[in-house]
Amino acid sequence: QSYLDRIAKYDDTIQSYITVTAERALADAAAAQKKIDAGNAGVLCGIPMAIKDNICTDGIKTTCASKMLEDFIPPYNATVMEKLAAQDIVMLGKASMDEFAMGGSTQTSAFAKTRNPFNTECVPGGSSGGSAASVSASLAAAALGSDTGGSIRQPAAFCGVTGLKPTYGRVSRYGLVAFASSLDQIGPIAKNAQDCAWILNAIAGFDPHDGTSSKRNPEDYTAKLGKDIKGLKIAIPKEFYAEGIDDEVRNAVMQAARTYEKMGAELVECSMPSLKYAVAAYYLIASAEASSNLSRYDGIKYGHRSKVGDTFQELICNSRSEGFGSEVKRRILLGNYALSSGYYDAYYGKAMALKQRISAEYAHIFETCDVILTPTTPSVAYGVHENISDPVKMYQADICTVTVNIASLPAISTPCGYNAAGMPIGMSIVGKQFDEATILQVADAFE
Ligand code: GLN
Repeated sequence: QSYLDRIAKYDDTIQSYITVTAERALADAAAAQKKIDAGNAGVLCGIPMAIKDNICTDGIKTTCASKMLEDFIPPYNATVMEKLAAQDIVMLGKASMDEFAMGGSTQTSAFAKTRNPFNTECVPGGSSGGSAASVSASLAAAALGSDTGGSIRQPAAFCGVTGLKPTYGRVSRYGLVAFASSLDQIGPIAKNAQDCAWILNAIAGFDPHDGTSSKRNPEDYTAKLGKDIKGLKIAIPKEFYAEGIDDEVRNAVMQAARTYEKMGAELVECSMPSLKYAVAAYYLIASAEASSNLSRYDGIKYGHRSKVGDTFQELICNSRSEGFGSEVKRRILLGNYALSSGYYDAYYGKAMALKQRISAEYAHIFETCDVILTPTTPSVAYGVHENISDPVKMYQADICTVTVNIASLPAISTPCGYNAAGMPIGMSIVGKQFDEATILQVADAFE
């Protein structure tokens, strides 16, 4: 009730939710109380959570912040929702996002253009901006987001909270509305690494419903929390600290690196020469996959149906023109172009070759280092009217996060300071595949 009261009071301003499920929340809370009384409460019993609106919730609208899915009520739960329910969480509602998770500002949401709780004239980041803002403003104790190229970590950094993108295949994607299937992962956004670890414990694991889900057994992700980081090797790839990264951001992350050094960790300078191609490779791969995934929204099988159109062609064309916003259309055009005959090798083929190169460069660093430390974003949260009309500038701002998805690695963003205006700065700790326990340990050591 106390969270619902805060939502009623502050969410008109913050706009972190698309749907508040007040009745459901109180019913969940009552059920949680019963479990506690009976002495068989799940680990997350009674924890009030916000769920990104691209994660399917049985009987509750899941819009992807798009007019295309404005009235979509899934007849089933995503696997992560089943797993959270098994631990007795309380669902507060569905959090806003960039339309179909495409963007980094949550200003492309068709329903709730979320604001940053630190300064409501600034964006919360995105695409999981509603999830991050709700946690930051204590309108939820924790949240789920999804991350295709930074969408958990970047809004966590902008809103001064902690967000974890697990290894590809660690958390089931069943019931996550697909953006770019080879890159998408669901993960937690919370007040600290410890809370993220508890949530990851609940949602990780093999799922036969997701063909790319890993059969490897999940670990206890809280096991290393609080353990000494003495002797740990932290890689500092110089390209992530170069021109284009704001001084205040660079300094805060370097300051954190020195703090780790004082704790006994060893800093190792290294290099990732292919970083300069990463944004181009990411936008080709992500858009190519998106153009295919979004072809199902034709107003007939799925999604908004136009009232005008005499022929089959016209109906599909009008439904898609009305249902999708301009950023989604831009990605579909880019993806179809990159996949079209005669261009496939020149664009998609090259992007796939870069995926190999970037993965190899990470593997090389991990031969000698345990984790990698980088800024999460080149700058702090910007004004709600900035960048929006300049897609290329928006895309370039993803430089620090996209390589992690391209190489299927886990990474966590956690706050490491503030700029002069009081806006939060985030740093990212990248780990070896399936080594979430170590990046959680490193983030927790700083917090
Ligand atoms: N900002 C990136 C994009 O627009 C990442 C989005 C995401 O991770 N879902 O594609």
